[in-house]
Amino acid sequence: MGNRVRNMGQTIVVKIGTSSLTHGETGHLALATIAALVEVLSQLRQQGHQIVLVSSGAVGVGCARLKLSDRPRTMALKQAIAAVGQGRLMRIYDDFFSVLQQPIAQVLLTRGDLADRDRYINAHNTFRELLKLGVIPVVNENDTVAVDELKFGDNDTLSALVASLVQADWLFLLTDVDSLYSADPRTNPDAKPISTVEQIEDLAKLQVQAGDRGSRWGTGGMATKIAAAAIATDAGVRTVITKGQIPDNILKILAGDTIGTQFSPHPEPINARKHWIAYSLVPVGTLVLDAGAAQAIASQGKSLLAAGILSIEGEFQSQEPVRLCDPTGREIARGLVNYSNTELSLIRGNHSDDIPALLGYAGAETVVHRDNLVVL
Ligand code: GLU
Repeated sequence: MGNRVRNMGQTIVVKIGTSSLTHGETGHLALATIAALVEVLSQLRQQGHQIVLVSSGAVGVGCARLKLSDRPRTMALKQAIAAVGQGRLMRIYDDFFSVLQQPIAQVLLTRGDLADRDRYINAHNTFRELLKLGVIPVVNENDTVAVDELKFGDNDTLSALVASLVQADWLFLLTDVDSLYSADPRTNPDAKPISTVEQIEDLAKLQVQAGDRGSRWGTGGMATKIAAAAIATDAGVRTVITKGQIPDNILKILAGDTIGTQFSPHPEPINARKHWIAYSLVPVGTLVLDAGAAQAIASQGKSLLAAGILSIEGEFQSQEPVRLCDPTGREIARGLVNYSNTELSLIRGNHSDDIPALLGYAGAETVVHRDNLVVL
């Protein structure tokens, strides 16, 4: 994995949501916006940058194609509609990009593709080859086959995980507002645009209004964008929220203009493997720790030993991802566990030296080794 997906220029991931791609009332495609976006992305490619486009719209475009006026409510119907819309969406992108002789590729992902280490590395290698070929991958969640437990849920999260996967320099989250505000600008005249966020935690101090649920067709909102920014900036990716209707802003922002909201990359990004443990995996169990163990992990970066475990929730096997919680139940870390829940119920609270006698065989000394553990 080590080598970054880069030959020259910067790696830029752009995510566009259904609310920017379609007209709210009719659900028809916003052709002018798409054309402008295609021009900007092709221009960036010409300048030597590597581009990934994460595009929503499969469900919205599918509904328009089938003349359905409401968003589908059942999973199966949604999956069927996405299958209609995704092909249509790609056809439109390919037509537009072809005019500018820019090759594109369709990449459909489910969370399961990123949660499995081998598949994650495969996906990384595929993106690397596509980018080396000068292709713009157009990514969406594979809505037609994704099951609930293994869904990204929204493309903001997907785009942040893709930005981390390709070790991007930039992630642009294009949306229907021009930036993040200190309150809801539609109802609060004192709401102020926020141009820079150095640390995501600062937003809590500003009491930023993140309750917005997004538009009728999209599934995101400001809350998912802030969560996506946290994932991406933790991987060292500079993240920007800006208006989708003006794709030219991407060029201006790259040239140094202050437009939209920019989230600075974390000064000490977590390494690629730990980032994968923290954000791509879906935890299947929980270990509640005593105060001493929680403290040793959170402040001293120690491994977790059996002695520090108070209780175990869920069913899991060795090497599966689990949440580590303090005695109050607050999640403090995530990691890959060395024992199944059945084994842990026999050894929890005990000294590591007693493990062979309790289990009848010698196991790992740690329950979660610090190399496989990420403090959140
Ligand atoms: N994958 C969904 C689609 O293409 C969109 C998810 C989202 O809006 O974030 O329709």
